Amino acid sequence: MAKKVLIAGAGLGGLATGLRLAKKGYSVEILEKNGKAGGRLNQLKKDGFTFDTGPSFFAMSYEFTDFAKDCNITLPFKYYSLDPLYTVSFRNSDKVYHLFKDLHKLAAEFREEEPGFEQAMRKYLDKCRRLYYDTNVVIKNNYDSLLHYALTLPQVGPAHVGTLFRSFWSQVSRYFKSNEAREILSLVAFFLGRTPFDTPATYTLLSYTEFMHDGYFNVEGGMYKIVEGIVNELEKENVKISYNTEIVDFVAEGNKLKYLIDSEGKKWEADIMVINADAAVFRGKIFRRPEFSEEKLDRMEWTMGSLTIYLGIDRKLPDIQHHNYYLGTDYREYAGKVYSSAEIDEAPYYYVNVLSRSNPECAPPGCESLFFVCPVPDLRFKSSWHDRDQIVDRIIDDFSRRTGTDIRPHIVSRTVYTPEDWGDQFNLHRGSGLGLSHKMLQIGALRPKNFDEHFKNVFYTGASTIPGTGLPMVIIGSKLTTERVLKYNDQ
Ligand SMILES: Cc1cc2nc3c(=O)[nH]c(=O)nc-3n(C[C@H](O)[C@H](O)[C@H](O)COP(=O)(O)OP(=O)(O)OC[C@H]3O[C@@H](n4cnc5c(N)ncnc54)[C@H](O)[C@@H]3O)c2cc1C
Repeated sequence: MAKKVLIAGAGLGGLATGLRLAKKGYSVEILEKNGKAGGRLNQLKKDGFTFDTGPSFFAMSYEFTDFAKDCNITLPFKYYSLDPLYTVSFRNSDKVYHLFKDLHKLAAEFREEEPGFEQAMRKYLDKCRRLYYDTNVVIKNNYDSLLHYALTLPQVGPAHVGTLFRSFWSQVSRYFKSNEAREILSLVAFFLGRTPFDTPATYTLLSYTEFMHDGYFNVEGGMYKIVEGIVNELEKENVKISYNTEIVDFVAEGNKLKYLIDSEGKKWEADIMVINADAAVFRGKIFRRPEFSEEKLDRMEWTMGSLTIYLGIDRKLPDIQHHNYYLGTDYREYAGKVYSSAEIDEAPYYYVNVLSRSNPECAPPGCESLFFVCPVPDLRFKSSWHDRDQIVDRIIDDFSRRTGTDIRPHIVSRTVYTPEDWGDQFNLHRGSGLGLSHKMLQIGALRPKNFDEHFKNVFYTGASTIPGTGLPMVIIGSKLTTERVLKYNDQ
């Protein structure tokens, strides 16, 4: 008889691992706290508008195509590449930088600020390319022990040791002189949920993925099509998803987990359990492991929180691209306080996504569906959001001023999620948006493992276990977790 696997959480990690295991012949069932699948990769439909609530694009598309190949399916959603990748503008300047993939075109954007940009960029990207290929071995491996990890690291090669000790910012500054080029090219560090000043230079490999290797992609009809597509494939494999089922307790027998218990007291039994809820939080809150107590979690390094704003407006914004970054005037000062100051800047930095620009079906005719993300401190540093509406108003005013279009009288739908909402919805520690950070002491074998320390039949998948956060990483992680489960079964 097929072995039964229970997965706690229907985020991308849980869904992808579920499909891989179902395809390997396991009988899979998924338990999800919320009324919908997707976790942070989610959707809001309101007042005739559709909004992607979390991820708005992805990199490394080949991880999705490999996933489909491994599962022997046609990828159940369509994606298209973005060019320009995004735009960036600075406060007090009318100039809008278009981040083209074509380096010649890109260099023209920096003609005045950074003469010699193209040559510098080619050199910079060449180093990023070598980092990308040489570190692949670290990202795509399961580690059974610290020793195994320590033996793998030298394969990365001595040429990259310096990047462990430099910041992303210092690395970019070695190649570019102007603040504009440095600030724009180091923005990608924010995608990892930290700033370029505290992200190791090793992650400049991301510049290679964005500009050269693959680029960024959007999904036709919005990002939630990824979830709908995988759920549809799971249904074909008779995988049941039980919604509104939050795991709050457990029963163990020796070194095996026997039952997961939900908030109604129902016991769920299986041979194997995969936890897609945050790998650190679940160990602390549900398994009550002292190493993951609330105090210990607070001492770990988390990515920043997100203030997200979903606006439906009854007019078009033809001059605004799909992805846009609105920066301020003092990058270093901003980065120094963005995590830890309870006072949000008068004029914070933010990102705006116009989903309806390429997906007109996501807004009523003549309307636009806008999604703002503003990086903010997690709840350890800003515990109260009583000033939420004032902060949101300031961002909307700033956007109106900078784009020369007063959108305020055109807002017909408005929804806001603070880190409190993100934390409550998905059980994220202190509302941290991307989970544990990727500092060197929190990656590889030093990240919460994808197998349990005590229960032989328990595994983890998702952003806070290996290899890390972001959609492609979570897809790679689903493969690594599946390998663990298969190996366990062979024992
Ligand atoms: C604002 C924002 C923007 C982002 N933008 C991007 C982007 O543009 N591109 C990109 O690649 N990535 C982006 N990310 C990151 C990306 O969303 C995540 O890395 C990824 O979705 C994490 O998937 P996951 O399966 O690990 O976790 P989750 O999506 O959090 O899934 C975990 C699931 O477990 C459920 N759960 C939790 N506890 C329990 C419990 N006790 N019992 C049952 N169920 C439980 C949760 O409800 C959730 O559904 C963004 C994230 C945020 C917050």
